[in-house]
Amino acid sequence: MRLLQAILIVVQGVASVQCAHKWTLAKSCYEDKDLRKAMITAMETVKERSANGAKQLKRLKSGNPITLFGKLKAVTKLLLGSDTYKQNAESALKRFELVAQLDGPINDNEETFADSPAWKALQSNNDHFMDFVIHCGTDIISRNIQGSLYYWDKQRDQQLGDNHELIKMEREVKAGKWDDPRHQILAVTLVDNVYDRPQRGGRRNFAEKITFHPLYLKDQKDRQYDLFTEEKLQVVTRPDALQTFREKGKLLPIDLLHGLDGTLHHELFHLSGFGNLVDGPDQESAYGWANNTLIRNIDNPDLLSYLGLVIDLVENKKHTVEESGKVVKI
Ligand SMILES: [Zn+2]
Repeated sequence: MRLLQAILIVVQGVASVQCAHKWTLAKSCYEDKDLRKAMITAMETVKERSANGAKQLKRLKSGNPITLFGKLKAVTKLLLGSDTYKQNAESALKRFELVAQLDGPINDNEETFADSPAWKALQSNNDHFMDFVIHCGTDIISRNIQGSLYYWDKQRDQQLGDNHELIKMEREVKAGKWDDPRHQILAVTLVDNVYDRPQRGGRRNFAEKITFHPLYLKDQKDRQYDLFTEEKLQVVTRPDALQTFREKGKLLPIDLLHGLDGTLHHELFHLSGFGNLVDGPDQESAYGWANNTLIRNIDNPDLLSYLGLVIDLVENKKHTVEESGKVVKI
């Protein structure tokens, strides 16, 4: 009996290790040391926010009085709603647990990441589509076929539709400026349509990908690539912050804290390994604190990334967020 139990535990242990999805960096991210560091830091932050988010949601579910219970309940309720709280919290918890298990960056010798033998060996796995690569350049090629230009994604050997966001990104990078600075795409995630996969056969062996806009990265280079910093926290907690932000435009103080790390967290939920979610309900109202506290769509990637951020703020930074988007010290 003992031996059987031991074998079962070992089998379970192996199964859970194999289950963790893997990630790595493309050359466009790993060549520049600062950028590489920023991306790895962003991912560590995202994993910590997910682990912490899952832990706190579990504690809230248990109903036992915990430190900061009231604050955590209030701030999470803004995104999860009152009537829908229980099932929304359960759904977020499961997704956070998956992200917390992420394994990477896969790399043999600190130099070659996506070009390393360790990463290439994963291509023979039938569930490699659950793994992904982070790019910091567009990584697309164009082919002239009978006078017309067609675009392919290089890593995934996939033809792109004429209006694909990666083609727009490529055009903006070449021009050195945004088509419309008010509508900046910070990142694009490329996945297989979950319904197409069985017919696509070999595509189970293609890793998915997240591409950060090179212009966004360039703009933020001197601001620690838009990662969370104490300086940012100080800016958003100034007494006049809410008013100043409102006067400037649509961004609220809490939105400033949703930086590269927040965007990465958001993009993960588009991937097959973490739900294959779509920005919703539509492009106009999927993003930002104001929209997500109003619409409360638990299947919206931005809502989940904000949820991870605010739970971390309360639990680890001792700050909370009001419905207005104002960040206040506890
Ligand atoms: Zn999105």
